[in-house]
This record gives sequence, C-alpha cells and structure tokens, in this order.
Amino acid sequence: MRGLMMNTPLLISSIAEHAARFHGDREIVSVTADNPRHRCTFRDAIGRSKKLANALAGHGLQQGDRIATIAWNDYRHLEIYFGVSGAGYVCHTINPRLFPEQLVFIINHAEDRWVFVDVMMVPLLEKILPQISAVEGFVIMTDEAGMPETSLPNVHCYETLIGAETEVYEWPALDERSASALCYTSGTTGDPKGVLYDHRSTVLHAFAGVAPDVMGLSSRDCVLPVVPLFHVNAWGIPYSTLMVGSKIVFPGPKMGDGEALCELMESEGVTIALGVPTVWLALLQYCAQAGRLLTGLKRTLIGGAAVPRSMIQEFEDVHDVEVRQGWGMTEMSPLGTCNTVKAGMESLPRDEALDLATKAGRGIFGCELRIVDDKGEVLPWDGVAYGALQVRGPWICSDYFKLDGSAGSHTDDGWFDTGDVATIDPHGYMAITDRTKDVIKSGGEWISSIELENTAMGHPAVAEAAVIGVAHPKWTERPLLIVVRAEGQDVGKDEMLKFFDGKVATWWIPTDVQFVDELPHTATGKIKKIELRRQFADYSFPE
Ligand code: AMP
Repeated sequence: MRGLMMNTPLLISSIAEHAARFHGDREIVSVTADNPRHRCTFRDAIGRSKKLANALAGHGLQQGDRIATIAWNDYRHLEIYFGVSGAGYVCHTINPRLFPEQLVFIINHAEDRWVFVDVMMVPLLEKILPQISAVEGFVIMTDEAGMPETSLPNVHCYETLIGAETEVYEWPALDERSASALCYTSGTTGDPKGVLYDHRSTVLHAFAGVAPDVMGLSSRDCVLPVVPLFHVNAWGIPYSTLMVGSKIVFPGPKMGDGEALCELMESEGVTIALGVPTVWLALLQYCAQAGRLLTGLKRTLIGGAAVPRSMIQEFEDVHDVEVRQGWGMTEMSPLGTCNTVKAGMESLPRDEALDLATKAGRGIFGCELRIVDDKGEVLPWDGVAYGALQVRGPWICSDYFKLDGSAGSHTDDGWFDTGDVATIDPHGYMAITDRTKDVIKSGGEWISSIELENTAMGHPAVAEAAVIGVAHPKWTERPLLIVVRAEGQDVGKDEMLKFFDGKVATWWIPTDVQFVDELPHTATGKIKKIELRRQFADYSFPE
C-alpha cells in the first residue's frame, strides 16, 4: 500500500523562498574587494538572485547549462548560488588556486557557457583566455566603479547586469533530481573529476547539516564559513544557514588572515566557524601572539584533513571553544561523519576525551559507512581492524560527470570507495588512518602516517609535519618525518624523535627527520604527498 503524503520536490529555490519569508531580516556580512564590511539581508540577497535569474534567461541561457564562478566567499557569490541553481542552471564553482592547466581542463570539460569572476581573479582568466574560447560571457562581480580594464570579451558588470532586472520571478518547478551544482575534485593524480550535485541531494544534505550533533545550527547562530564557496559548496553552509536563518559572515579574500578572522568573529558575534585545520593554525597563532581570546565563539567544525590533537586542546583549553571534527569529500557533498560525544561519554578522563576527539566522528544519518579488506570482505567495527572506507547514501555521487563509470570508483554492490583507509570502533567512531595511496607498510605491519603527523604537530616548535613511507632494505618501508619548524623555533632530529616516546608504538617512531622550509599543498590546502614523495625520491635512510 502506498502512503498518502504529498510528493513535493526538494528544491534549492524552496530554501530561498523559506529564508526570505521567515528570516528576511537576517543579516549577511561580507568582506569584499570593494567593501571591508558589506551588509545586506536574506531578503535582499534572494531578491537579487531573482534579478540574476531574470538576467540569465534574458541572455538565452538554457536549463542545465553550466555557469561557473571563480570567487571568494561573499554575498554576491551566495546570490549566484541561488539565482543559478534555483533557475535550473548548474552552478559550477571553480577553485582559483588550481594550476592554469587545471582551470582550462575544468572549464572546457564542464562546457561552461558563462563565468562569474571576482575582480581579483580576472587576470587568472585573461591568461588562459585563448584556451577557453568556448566561454560565451564573463561577469565581473563588482559595480561600474570597480570594473577593471580587461581583455576578457563579452564582459558584463555584475551590478549593471542585475540592476536592469526586476525581482519578480517565479522559480521553475524543476524535477528534484535535476543537476544543481558541479564541483571538480582536487585530485593529486590524473585529471580533475566533476561531481554533479542535484537539488534533492543538496536539500537532504542541508537537513543533515543543521542537526544538533552535526553543525547544530539555529536561527540564533552566527556562522563564519572559512571553508570556501568554491569547495564542495562550503560544506553546504549556504543552504543550511538559509534553511534555519543563521546570520552569515563571509570573510571574502581574508580567509587565511588570522587577525581579520578574529576581528570578524569578535565584532559580528560569530557563534560557529567552519574551516580546514590550516586556517585555524593562522587564527590560533595570531591569538597567541596578540594575547587575544575568542570570547563569543562556541564551536568550530574542522575537517578536510586530520585535526591535530594540539589544535583541539588549544581551542578548548585556551578559548573554551568546542571542536567538532568532520570528515567527508567532494563526492559526498561533503558531510559523512561528525565528532560529538554520545550520552555517557561527557565525563571521560581528559586524555580519553582527546583521543576520541582526534577521530573523524560518527556516521551522520544518511551516510552509511563500512570498511573492507583487500578482498572486499566487510571488517568488524572493533577500533582495530582497518580497511578501505566505503560509503553509500542519497548525497553520495553515483558517478563522475561525463565519465560513465570509467573511474572504477564504485563497487558492484553500489558503494563508493572513498580512497581513505579507516578503523571504526564499537561506538561507531571512525578514524582515518591514511589515504589508500599513503599507507606505510613496515615489516608487513601497517603504520598510520596521520597519527605520526598528529603527534609531531603536538611539539611546540613544529609548524607543519608530514610523514611518507620510504624504501628500507630490511623493513621494506619505514616512515620519514618531514617538518617545517615554527617561526623563530629550533628543534633537531634527536629531540623530535624523542618526542614520540610513549606516544606511539616504538616501531612506529619515524626512522629519520628532514627539515624543510615549506610543504607542498594542493589547491584545497592538503599536503601533497605525491609531490613530497617526488622531492624525496633520491632520499635513503642513514646507515
Ligand atoms: P576533498 O574532496 O578535497 O574535500 O577531500 C576529501 C579527503 O580529505 C578525504 O577523502 C580525506 O582523505 C581527507 N579528509 C577530510 N576530512 C578529514 C579528516 N577529518 N581527517 C582526515 N582526513 C580527512
């Protein structure tokens, strides 16, 4: 027997309408290239996204067309999110930190018809213009006064483009499975791969994101997304905040600026901030140097890379800010797990609580998890067995854009292979130990590079650390620790290695340490292990 409930489609435009109606006065504060503190409301932003939808229709764009953005986090970018997706086009967010060849590949592969670009990123596009000749129109996200001299053809000024339109616009009644947004993964090997989100997956993911044990967002919150709008839809923040009416503070180009982030948090009353560990390093360093405390911030969701134990301690002990670690991927919209304590765990001894907090967290309802061995056999959740982490759910990709199953990313029984290696404990807490390609095998036993990196990061003289496996005549592979010293700090090999005593199994302790000025990073701020392995290809352990 079928149920008798309405079948209303889950659409991004319905989030926009809800936000304008119930939270119209809620503020959006943005740092932009042309304004240090721009202020508008949800009502303004949704009105302007409707003007944009009218403008796009007037220029002959068709539903399903890809419309790209290369921009920082601000209100105009948010308007494009809703104006483009809500009207049935596909909002293709592009990471400006990609190499020019990757930008060319992505724009052409996506067949972007128009590109919206921040003033600061116009030169990026000018350089690759001959290779992206299929793009029909460029929109520079500023007003007439801010328009730069440019060699881009068919160029529009954002404010003029939407200024000519009316706010009267009826969102189309789309199929909820229509594509809404596109984001390419920042793969470290091969060409980038496109993940094509749809309206249904986006709305379901937004529901999941606001839940108490995930972001725990409400209309009383003020959210600072330092995670970029150009990377996995900023973890769904544009949709989750508008769904519940949280105030939004966009840092614009100031994402890596500890002082600016601290100022924004303190003056705007930010209660929740989200970002990758690297940006929080900059913030915590600034606070320590300037003797400042984060007085209003209640919690931070940190993900995208393993969160060092020392970072959790500093947020919690110095600033009284709760750290929630999250794990996910571009292919997963991205939320898969989030780390909060379960009932009965609130009064764990501090050390055990920290051990727990360094894990990636429990599966969020809507994202099933499993770990499997080399033969595909499902492994137990005992916190010890480790294997390939696979996921399944309504906001996990079923394929990559235009690859028709050729990526080999899915199992025959319909699970997505994340490329991560993990353990899951009996309470359901998952811990990432490595990327499949980064696993270190020493004497047939496995060593977690992430745990070693985490431990090294706890040394006060270490700014950043990475561990790679290097060939060893006796053990096949041994861990090599590569360290960037913190400014003005000195630490040598012996002290560094001694620091591991009692913190990890003796046979895990790296065999050697190399000090470098900086580590190579991907466009999303992850350490590029493949590049490190290349740099240390000729390295061999001392006798
Ligand atoms: P991306 O698709 O660029 O967001 O990258 C996703 C990858 O980042 C995952 O597959 C993990 O390897 C890594 N990652 C994300 N969150 C965490 C975390 N909390 N701990 C360790 N690795 C993480």
